[in-house]
Amino acid sequence: MFSLTMNPNQLKLLWKFSEKKTLDIWSGAPGGETTTLDILVAPDIKTSFKDFVTQYNISHSVVIEDYQFLLNSQKVKVSTRGSSPARKEFSLYEYNQYDEIVQYLHEVEQSCPKLVKLLSIGKTSEKRRLWLVQISTARRGARRPFVLLDAGSHAREWIGPATALYIISRLLGEDCGATELSKYLDWHIIPLFNPDGYEYTHTRDRMWRKTRSTLENTSCKGVDVNRNFDFHWGQTGASLNQCLCYLTETGASLNPCQSDYAGPKPFSEPEARAFRNYVLSDAKRILLYVSLHSYGKFLMYPWAYTKLRTSDWRVMKTLSEKANKALIDEGGEPYFIGTAAQLLCTST
Ligand SMILES: [Zn+2]
Repeated sequence: MFSLTMNPNQLKLLWKFSEKKTLDIWSGAPGGETTTLDILVAPDIKTSFKDFVTQYNISHSVVIEDYQFLLNSQKVKVSTRGSSPARKEFSLYEYNQYDEIVQYLHEVEQSCPKLVKLLSIGKTSEKRRLWLVQISTARRGARRPFVLLDAGSHAREWIGPATALYIISRLLGEDCGATELSKYLDWHIIPLFNPDGYEYTHTRDRMWRKTRSTLENTSCKGVDVNRNFDFHWGQTGASLNQCLCYLTETGASLNPCQSDYAGPKPFSEPEARAFRNYVLSDAKRILLYVSLHSYGKFLMYPWAYTKLRTSDWRVMKTLSEKANKALIDEGGEPYFIGTAAQLLCTST
């Protein structure tokens, strides 16, 4: 994995290069005249990529020499668990697979029946259930505002579901007594938004990002479910690959073989439809919606498709600053704060 720092001209050259060779852009940092991108480069194009950055004098460094080596070390950990004869106790500090996660969620519901309710909100293309965890200290049927949180819409971003499960465990409090955070509001959490893709990253392709739906007229599979909603569907937006187009004004294609393919139409994916139906059934109660992704230290709020601000951007900015301060107070590193369009697609 390389980290590149480029001026606008060099960025345009990179975009041209990426039209011929597939680059996997992982993260970008905001900047005015300069753009920094972390890019995963496949072994077979490493030499031509190095020649390219040298030829155009692009400032670069190697962030991770052998990415596959890191992936393999995760894999060993997973398979060691699977091969042990007795079922190990569920660990919040490991990357668990779908079945283990679902079993954990059922156990949480059984051990805290008054506090926790587990709901299936739909099924994936491969017929896995989509689970949502409700945590509420109110009496059943009370209609308090809730925080909606999801994770794992991008299959390979494993830290998201792991974080969502950790948040669930912390919200239970001691002896199912919950915490201050549930005093006035409820929590509705979808820890694994894209189980099909997630399982695929465990069994076949660690770098898979999309769902696993079958598409017409192509052998490529899956849709970026986070680009499958109907709001400004198909427009360039908060994807770093798309941002390169956006910055260079070439426009994004809707190529089903790309990792950020928006789908044949809005809500083509059952996961997106299930989420839409759930949200619309109780939209007025939603106080805050948070979607967990990786990587990059960003606290992003709308919009992604345009650099215009929402009418309530100040509220979200203030909230993000409070979250950032809380992170720093706990010894964490500061995050960048801003709209997705500002942070991911800095204009040059
Ligand atoms: Zn993501």
